Amino acid sequence: MRARAAARLRAGHLWVYRSDLASTPSLPPGALVSVRDPRGNSLGTALYSSASQIALRLISTGPVTGKEAFHQLIRERIHAAAEYRRRVVEASDAYRVVFSEADALPGLIVDRYNDVLCLQALTQAMDQAEVKQTVVAALQEEFAPAGVVERVEPRIRKLEQLPESKGGLLAGEKDATIFTMNGVRFHYRAGEGQKTGAFLDQRENYAAAARYARGQALDVFCYQGGFALHLARVCQSVTGVDSSRPALEMAERNEELNRASSSAQEIEWIEANAFDLLKDYAAAGRQYDTVILDPPAFAKSKTTVETAVRGYKELNLRALKMLRPGGILVTCSCSYHLSESDFLEMVAAAAGDAHRTARILEKRGQAKDHPVLLTVPETSYLKCVITVVS
Ligand code: SAH
Repeated sequence: MRARAAARLRAGHLWVYRSDLASTPSLPPGALVSVRDPRGNSLGTALYSSASQIALRLISTGPVTGKEAFHQLIRERIHAAAEYRRRVVEASDAYRVVFSEADALPGLIVDRYNDVLCLQALTQAMDQAEVKQTVVAALQEEFAPAGVVERVEPRIRKLEQLPESKGGLLAGEKDATIFTMNGVRFHYRAGEGQKTGAFLDQRENYAAAARYARGQALDVFCYQGGFALHLARVCQSVTGVDSSRPALEMAERNEELNRASSSAQEIEWIEANAFDLLKDYAAAGRQYDTVILDPPAFAKSKTTVETAVRGYKELNLRALKMLRPGGILVTCSCSYHLSESDFLEMVAAAAGDAHRTARILEKRGQAKDHPVLLTVPETSYLKCVITVVS
């Protein structure tokens, strides 16, 4: 590999791009390989992908000799990941158990939803049947779940040149359950919705938003009601907006689950394009005390950042205009490609255009069960800024 790739690994990153390989290796998909710098010094052991632009993902800075050692390493890493969550997760039976590179298991995602675990294998190495068996066995030992399901992303399988697969139960019988975050209850049904089902990365931000929220609240891009149902405990009324009908149907069912603990006199779910709705509401002079903005990742690559910023700015501008003095804006971005400083600059520009003053109450990121590995910036993607607006 090229010297710059070796330097990146030495600095603690875990990836080697295909363009940094000295030659095209003839290795089987998902192979375990030892990695050397141009001088032949060992840099550790990695998992190979014959398809991805990320050709190698380091799993150890030392040797991992043979399949048995690799499987033992997986068991140890899953145990460490579970232990870490026991330390950092509070008031929730739903959280990310394994976060890929950040847990030294590149290509593997495992989310816990109460007694059901959901696994995603994103690389050729992690998709191997034997590897998944080891993962499932280790998870059973840690959590004794009633079900372990696999969720597949057709787009990612295509990129990794993996055969099409439907996913489904890998162990146990149960693939639907109810989970609780911060005392708020949610339905979980394997195979439905986005990501592995819920936006677990926002769990701590839901609680933070509820600490400041008040009055009439608008949750834009509400999905299944993550923020909205937390706000319903402290606000007078909550309006959730999303363009997805199935997401809103689930939000309504989640609302029913939490009726007893809701203090809001009114919760409504509106199916609409957020851009159109905000424009109409702003034109109609609607006002709110709390607005949440949690749009999908507009910047999916470096090249689309500029267009994405325009989209984010439009949303923030309209939200700021609709806030009553002293109102709370909770604004998020899950685009890795948009840095925190660019995000803050965008919100500042929107506040300037709206002739409003925004003071930062909290600058937040993803929940601690989605750890950020300092040497792998790609593991840090979520921004959540809470401001008070006058
Ligand atoms: N806040 C949610 C997660 C939001 S994910 C939570 O914490 O659970 C982004 C959501 O935006 C998805 O539910 C998607 O259906 C919705 N969405 C995408 N484009 C939209 C648009 N133009 N208008 C309204 N909703 C949109």
